[in-house]
Amino acid sequence: MRQVALFVLFLSLSGLANAQCAARIEVGDALKYSITDIAVDGECQDFSIELVHTGSLPSIAMGHNWVLSTMDDVDPIAQAGIQAGAENNYLSKDDGRVIAATKLIGGGEQDKITFSLTNLEKGKQYAFFCSFPGHTSMMRGTFVVG
Ligand code: ZN
Repeated sequence: MRQVALFVLFLSLSGLANAQCAARIEVGDALKYSITDIAVDGECQDFSIELVHTGSLPSIAMGHNWVLSTMDDVDPIAQAGIQAGAENNYLSKDDGRVIAATKLIGGGEQDKITFSLTNLEKGKQYAFFCSFPGHTSMMRGTFVVG
């Protein structure tokens, strides 16, 4: 019975997640996101990011996260993140410039977040990036709400 219930729950959750209001991004043992441009349907109120680390290295060596901010805030957030250190997932605590962020994950791990789009300016190009030291210049992409 329990398996049936879980299966039904899974089906209903899948049904709720509008494909255009969610993205699944894979990372691995290289400095690369599987997608680098996210164009969000203007109808979306919220957006979900599922970050999946398909590599085998632990987060201490090859950790990745997904952080959303304005283009101008990328470098200041990353700098503050390095100061904050691994124990804070390389993000300064309560950094108001961070619009959304997953936790830092290593090989075999994943994280999923859902955040509101209501404060994002439509048509503006936002940036997503990994705040792990040394990754930020390589691991970044664009995020635009249509
Ligand atoms: Zn990374």
